[in-house]
Amino acid sequence: MTVAEDELEWRRAVTETRAVMRKASETWARHSCPASGECCQLSVTKRQPYLWPSEWRVLLEHLQREKRAVPPAREDGACPFLDASGKRCSVYEARPFGCRTFFCGRIIGPSKIPADETNALLERLTALNVAVDERAEPRAMLDWCNSLSLGERVSRSEG
Ligand code: SF4
Repeated sequence: MTVAEDELEWRRAVTETRAVMRKASETWARHSCPASGECCQLSVTKRQPYLWPSEWRVLLEHLQREKRAVPPAREDGACPFLDASGKRCSVYEARPFGCRTFFCGRIIGPSKIPADETNALLERLTALNVAVDERAEPRAMLDWCNSLSLGERVSRSEG
C-alpha cells in the first residue's frame, strides 16, 4: 500500500470513528456525573483512557481546526487536555471513547448501564483500526501526548 492509500484508509477510519463516538455518547445519554473532573486526574486515579490511533487522529484534527497545539504535560499529572480550572475537558467534542463511556462510582442515571452496547462499539472501534493496520493497538493518553516532539506540537498549532 502506498503512503497516499494508507492515508486514505486512515481518513475513512477517522470518519467511522466519529460515528462510533457519536453513538457512544447517545448510548450513555441517560447517564451523567457531577462533572468534577476527578477522573481526568490521571496520576491520582492511576487510570488513563486508552486511545486507538483513529481516536488520536480525531483529537489531533480537532486541535488543528481550532489552531491549537497538543498541550504540554501538566505538573499535577492530570490529562493535558483538562482546562485550567481543572474541571472542564478542553476537547470535549473530540474526547476519546473511554472518556465518553467511563463513569466512576458517582454516576447518575439508570442503574442498568449499557454494557453490551458499549462492548459492541468498542469491538467496532477495534476492528476499524486493525483493518487499516493489523498491528494497531490502543495507547495510553499520556503516551500519545508524550510521543509528539516540541516541533510537532508547534507545527500542529500552525497547521
Ligand atoms: S480527554 Fe478530556 S475527558 Fe478525557 S481525560 Fe482528558 S480532559 Fe478528561
